[in-house]
Amino acid sequence: MKTVHNFNAGPCVLPKEAINAAIEALKDFAGTGMSVIEVSHRSKEWQAVMDETEALWKEILNIPDGYKVLFLGGGASTQFLTVPMNFLEKKAAYLETGVWAKKALKEAKGIGNAVCVASSADTIFNYIPKGYTIPTDADYFHITTNNTIYGTEIREDINSPIPLIADMSSDIMSRPVDVSKYIMIYGGAQKNVGPAGVTFVIVKEDALGKVSRYIPTMLDYKTHIEGGSMFNTPPVFSILVMNYTMKWLKGLGGLKVMEQMNIEKSNLLYNEIDRNSMFVGTVANKEDRSIMNHCWVMAEAYKDKEDAFMAFAKERGMVGIKGHRSVGGFRASLYNACPKASVEALVACMQEFEKLNK
Ligand SMILES: *Cc1c(COP(=O)(O)O)cnc(C)c1O
Repeated sequence: MKTVHNFNAGPCVLPKEAINAAIEALKDFAGTGMSVIEVSHRSKEWQAVMDETEALWKEILNIPDGYKVLFLGGGASTQFLTVPMNFLEKKAAYLETGVWAKKALKEAKGIGNAVCVASSADTIFNYIPKGYTIPTDADYFHITTNNTIYGTEIREDINSPIPLIADMSSDIMSRPVDVSKYIMIYGGAQKNVGPAGVTFVIVKEDALGKVSRYIPTMLDYKTHIEGGSMFNTPPVFSILVMNYTMKWLKGLGGLKVMEQMNIEKSNLLYNEIDRNSMFVGTVANKEDRSIMNHCWVMAEAYKDKEDAFMAFAKERGMVGIKGHRSVGGFRASLYNACPKASVEALVACMQEFEKLNK
């Protein structure tokens, strides 16, 4: 197999340990003599995986009592709709920090009165708005903690005077989180915790049941709480790989250790972006920079060298560093499973390109 450095934004790099364990389970799952994609989701062997996976989430993220962890289908994009369905009665407030946040707000507007508290759309979302006022008459405040496309991140658990809900698709499990500050945290698994196909929902049970509308069965979180995430057939394979990924994370020492490793990798790359005169970072304020997704473009004097750098990096095994079309330039996603050696290889590649082209 050829060696690559995978900087894809999602789906993305996963721990080799998790992938290898998944290959074994595809052949023979838990000694059943069947593949994991052949066993009944009602079998005791599968139930054990569901229980263990929920327990791993609770332990690693230190989730307090009173919260449920659900593993659903539909992606984070379906949650954009189910959040307002389940929580919006009179009014909802949203922070618009990127395209995903905007999509979440759009769905809420389709359900009821949803307002945009602040937006950074004016400068292609290259900063996190600050100094805004959260309306206290809203049912909840929705934020997107990591803006995957633009490389900005809210890396603290903000204080909200009203219930807080966060899309953490692309930075969940990258740092410790004070779950008690949120009534709900959700995301697609495919950026830090597993393959595409499973969506995680951490929801505070007593925050539910406060809206008067009819909620369709499959869109009602209570359905999935009662059904133990198995009201209907769960995405078994994706959940299993997530289980292995969580075990890998726990084995490394958990979220404090993971955060340190992520900061170290992130600093390596940002230091090079800042040092190398051929490149400039796209995020306006350093404190808003994401430690997951790193965005940069060619400096003005070297604009004509963009394609050349892309080809140069590709030759050296770099995968997935093309920036999103709305930002241009480059983006390297350094998720949990991205090895430090890959970041070092990218930095070396940027330095070499500078030596040859400046
Ligand atoms: C990728 C992403 C999504 C979309 O996730 P799907 O599971 O594909 O629907 C939503 N929000 C954020 C922050 C993302 O990075």
